[in-house]
Amino acid sequence: DGCNGNGAAAAAGVVPEIKFTKLFINGEFVDAVSGKTFETRDPRTGAVLAHVAEADKADVDLGVKAARDAFDHGKWPRMSGYERGRLLSKFADLVDQHTEELAALDGADAGKLLLVGKVIDVPSATQMLRYYAGAADKIHGEVLRVSGKYQGYSLREPVGVAGVIIPWNFPTMMFFLKVSPALAAGCTVVVKPAEQTPLSALYYAHLAKLAGVPDGVINVVPGFGHTAGAAITSHMDVDTVAFTGSTEVGRLIMESAARSNLKPVSLELGGKSPLIIFDDADVDMAVNLSRLAIFFNKGEICAAGSRVYVQEGIYDEFVKKAVEAAQNWKVGDPFDVTTNMGPQVDKEQFEKVLKYIEHGKSEGATLLTGGKPAAAKGYYIEPTIFVDVTEDMKIAQEEIFGPVMALMKFKTVDEVIEKANCTRYGLVAGIVTKSLDVANRVSRAVRAGTVWVNCYFVFDPDAPFGGFKMSGFGQDQGLGAMDKFLQVKSVITALPDSPW
Ligand code: NAD
Repeated sequence: DGCNGNGAAAAAGVVPEIKFTKLFINGEFVDAVSGKTFETRDPRTGAVLAHVAEADKADVDLGVKAARDAFDHGKWPRMSGYERGRLLSKFADLVDQHTEELAALDGADAGKLLLVGKVIDVPSATQMLRYYAGAADKIHGEVLRVSGKYQGYSLREPVGVAGVIIPWNFPTMMFFLKVSPALAAGCTVVVKPAEQTPLSALYYAHLAKLAGVPDGVINVVPGFGHTAGAAITSHMDVDTVAFTGSTEVGRLIMESAARSNLKPVSLELGGKSPLIIFDDADVDMAVNLSRLAIFFNKGEICAAGSRVYVQEGIYDEFVKKAVEAAQNWKVGDPFDVTTNMGPQVDKEQFEKVLKYIEHGKSEGATLLTGGKPAAAKGYYIEPTIFVDVTEDMKIAQEEIFGPVMALMKFKTVDEVIEKANCTRYGLVAGIVTKSLDVANRVSRAVRAGTVWVNCYFVFDPDAPFGGFKMSGFGQDQGLGAMDKFLQVKSVITALPDSPW
């Protein structure tokens, strides 16, 4: 594995300028009420990147109050959809103008590839924002067929204050995935970015203000889950919570919503997604796709293809090529353009992934490549492949959220459908085949919210994304994602007596 680790060892340590480290409440950057701060670290070195104001309940209360006032009395939900859309488009333009800086912030905060940030994360985020900006003036109700002398119509109105709680793996995309439809719908938001990656969200709040988004419409309260996050989910004045994160925390969020004001929640949770490769596949193409599916973004992606099922006819050739491909996936400094994979986001994730690798070995799977840290410092892990994996093993059932592929052999379509569905998750599935019949059959049989056929990680603002089973509920992307932030009101009016 000659390449792995070389770049990491040479981690250049480029650190972008960090301009915003305070909470953003009611249009101002402010210290936490407690005066506390927390450290966010650079996963390339483990060094402290910045001290960020740490929100807890008192700050969340202020953020929610600002959002409540902006919703109840401000112009945001009352201005025309067109006007809201115009401001959101301007916001998108400003984000585009700062692409380089924002990609660098996420790069240093999350260990994400700078180049990918520039060409994927930031542009996809602004595409998302523009998609919903264009939808802001197309929120329609219906004319209702009410019996008797009445006319009825429905309105779709913004639900109010939306709490947004997001993870660290795609700090930019997650922010816009939730905030764009919420704002387009006319809601105001209180956003809690992940404690590992608070920096870009603060920058976005600043850019929204520059674009003319009124004070109080966007509030950002970095802090920890059990304090700031829990204060949002239990708040009596938060009308809905949009969450992306782990299944375990999703459960806590529902409980907290139920115990407080019964606010609706939407949960985008974990996955253990199957990528199924049939005998008729082009093996080289399938190997490349499987490598992307598990090693892209260091495997820190909810939709990772972490279980790879390969049909027996091509299995041996596939395994050989997959190992070579993994060994050619260069681990190193995410700011180096030749790097394929940076460090895991923090020490905790790094140790968690290594622990799963140990489980894989002790449960009897065969480690074919990787399995170790890829550098002396920083949180780098080698691209790892296990074979001889069985469905009952932890590494086949639990989300590792790291660069660990579990490779399995199968014989028949029926068998693989059953195996593909045998986890508690149902986020995505991938299929590689030239047979239309097989593709259609498996697409319908897998219990997953998204199916990629002969491709992987194809996200689009217009393609609904969300989980089946314990991968959650409540759609992201697509026009339907706005429903989370809207509620329907029926208006029924008596008609005067008339023959019509
Ligand atoms: P996490 O659930 O630990 O944290 C997510 C967010 O929730 C963070 O902001 C955290 O501070 C907050 N949080 C933690 N405890 C909380 C509590 N008690 N109340 C309120 N908020 C709380 O997840 P993570 O480790 O940051 O992210 C990894 C997980 O996210 C993985 O399981 C992954 O699959 C999932 N994920 C899912 C999707 C998707 O679209 N389905 C996308 C990305 C990540």
